[in-house]
Amino acid sequence: MDILDQDIKYLPGVGPTRKKMLSNELGIETYGDLLEYYPYKYVDRSKVYTIHELSGDMPFVQVVGHILSFETFAMGPRKERVVAHFTDGTGICDLTWFNGGKYAKQNYKIGTQYLVFGKPTVFNNRINFTHPDLDKVDSEQWRVENGQLTVDSGLLRMQPYYNTTDKMKKSGLNSRAIERLTKTLIEKLPPLPETLPPFICNAQHLMERDEALRTVHYPQNAKDLEHARLRLKFEELFYIQLNILRYASDQRRKYRGYVFSTVGDVFNTFYNQYLPFPLTGAQKRVIKEIRKDMGSGRQMNRLLQGDVGSGKTLVALMSMLIAIDNGYQACIMAPTEILAEQHLQTIMGFLKDMNLRVALLTGIVKGKRRQEVLDGLLDGTINILVGTHAVIEDTVQFARLGFVVVDEQHRFGVAQRAKLWSKSANPPHVLVMTATPIPRTLAMTLYGDLDVSVIDELPPGRKPVQTTHIIDTRMTSLYDGIRRQIHEGRQVYIVFPLIEESAKSDLKNLEDGFEVLKESFPEFRLSKVHGRMKPKDKEEEMQKFVRNETQILVATTVIEVGVNVPNASVMVILEAQRFGLAQLHQLRGRVGRGADQSYCILVTPLKLSEDTRKRIDIMCETNDGFRIAEADLKLRGPGDLEGTQQSGMAFDLKIADIARDGQIVQLARDEAQKIIDEDPECKSERFALLWHRLRQLRKTNINWAAIS
Ligand code: ADP
Ligand code: MG
Repeated sequence: MDILDQDIKYLPGVGPTRKKMLSNELGIETYGDLLEYYPYKYVDRSKVYTIHELSGDMPFVQVVGHILSFETFAMGPRKERVVAHFTDGTGICDLTWFNGGKYAKQNYKIGTQYLVFGKPTVFNNRINFTHPDLDKVDSEQWRVENGQLTVDSGLLRMQPYYNTTDKMKKSGLNSRAIERLTKTLIEKLPPLPETLPPFICNAQHLMERDEALRTVHYPQNAKDLEHARLRLKFEELFYIQLNILRYASDQRRKYRGYVFSTVGDVFNTFYNQYLPFPLTGAQKRVIKEIRKDMGSGRQMNRLLQGDVGSGKTLVALMSMLIAIDNGYQACIMAPTEILAEQHLQTIMGFLKDMNLRVALLTGIVKGKRRQEVLDGLLDGTINILVGTHAVIEDTVQFARLGFVVVDEQHRFGVAQRAKLWSKSANPPHVLVMTATPIPRTLAMTLYGDLDVSVIDELPPGRKPVQTTHIIDTRMTSLYDGIRRQIHEGRQVYIVFPLIEESAKSDLKNLEDGFEVLKESFPEFRLSKVHGRMKPKDKEEEMQKFVRNETQILVATTVIEVGVNVPNASVMVILEAQRFGLAQLHQLRGRVGRGADQSYCILVTPLKLSEDTRKRIDIMCETNDGFRIAEADLKLRGPGDLEGTQQSGMAFDLKIADIARDGQIVQLARDEAQKIIDEDPECKSERFALLWHRLRQLRKTNINWAAIS
């Protein structure tokens, strides 16, 4: 048996009670689990001072010496202050306890050698440490000669701090206790085998695994610690990447992609005759990337990122035309009915003079109409299907489905993507479009099996949206601004927050707010849309706004995704503090779609938490979706990012941090890619160590296996 699989109860200092506590509170069952329970921070204890050197303005420091005597001072009834006079031969200082003095007197012995850690202050002209940490040391470990202190290097280190729960702390299993356990464990363990091949360790200058695991719990200095952490982070990220790339390579070998070799009449006619404006450079580049994939003989799995309004739909459409040119059908899937409807209109608008059959399939297409669509798909007369999730139902069968576009990935998980594949002999090419920019490092991990294209350029003539933050007591001037815009012919969104947990009161807020707004704007017409309305009513209200029959749309975030009303120029977000950055950015993307200057107004109460203030500031500062996504990742951590839950992948990293360790992700990805390139079938003897380790990890770590 691998010693790391040993039950934690056998570790000296654990026993049945602590075993239960460790298992219940931290999920630690084995030696290996404890070894991988890494400290969350360290305090530098790599230097020891002489008492003579100390001053009151130093930060936390340590000294070494012994206690000369104890003194006790009464501080009112049943309360006392205990002072130990402490010396190292260069001077005397005091160690003071206001609480737990009795315990200190019993535990610490006069004449015994201690390493003392604390914050020095000056009291009564003497250096004083209040409630210091004391660790026993041997007298051979240090000496003072001519006022010079020499300390055994074994005393010097960075002190680790481990996360523990309140329950654990109450039973004495605090950070120091865990530290003692890991120390015992490390002393017990034989040298641990290496899990990365030497050529990678050498290329990346990585510390050996055995040394890294010991050092991360018991580092002597900051430099060693950094090396150890780098090694462990790299390893963690490397195996994740190796797993993803292995999966992608597997898929690639299992399925051949349709080869779309021609760009023919349909594409060219559209491009030369009906394209109403020149493509942006970014659109051209991405279409080229897609064409190349489609012609390569392998199945395309591409993520297309582009800010709202960057023209992704057109790119999708032109890619669909290539599929049609090669005799295949194409399909585009949107997350909501409203969006599907809008895609249909956009696409029919672009294609109105071409002889192509475009159809819609959503939950509300029923009966005879639905049957017509199903027939048309099966006999191949429908060229393009626009739809919602309804499209992946088993009853929907295509004659020759060659290309699928999935709009707004974060509502559409990996499993659903896979379901598409059952619809044709070979899997269709897949283009996933998202307007929620995902930082590169996260994309590599979340959608690691996808190639990534980016539209990083807006169509010309767009004016960046101006974003301002106002306090909710200044609504009158906001209303004046809204009135001016509407008198100039524009339209306005007003968004109320609505979250599941407080849906009832949120909804009431919206209803009340709607009445107030109606009274405030008697000269205009208002629409109201929220998630609890019947789809048909919702649709009707949306359409009124789209047709400019209403000037103000009061809504919850149902409008968040994709609606296109170029005439709308103001986005007011009430209680903006309750929205995440990604959501705010999405909402803002609803305006600024026409040639006019647009505005986004974030309304909050006066008092804001620090994080909220940062979110609001970022929004006011930039329109750049990628910068916002990076900031979001830093503020929230990857686990909270919209999309990570739905996509079925939990982040359970033990030491790496996707937000901060982007560079390491990239290095790990590159190394993993080289290996897959050399050994795509994962069976070369040369990499046996890696494949073995990967199998081991996939077996033991449930969350981790969910990546594929
Ligand atoms: P996205 O889906 O990326 O949010 P859309 O595809 O909806 O963006 O495009 C937003 C608007 O910009 C649409 O009205 C579209 O017709 C227009 N558009 C797209 N590409 C261009 C271009 N190259 N030049 C001018 N307008 C464009
Ligand atoms: Mg769109």
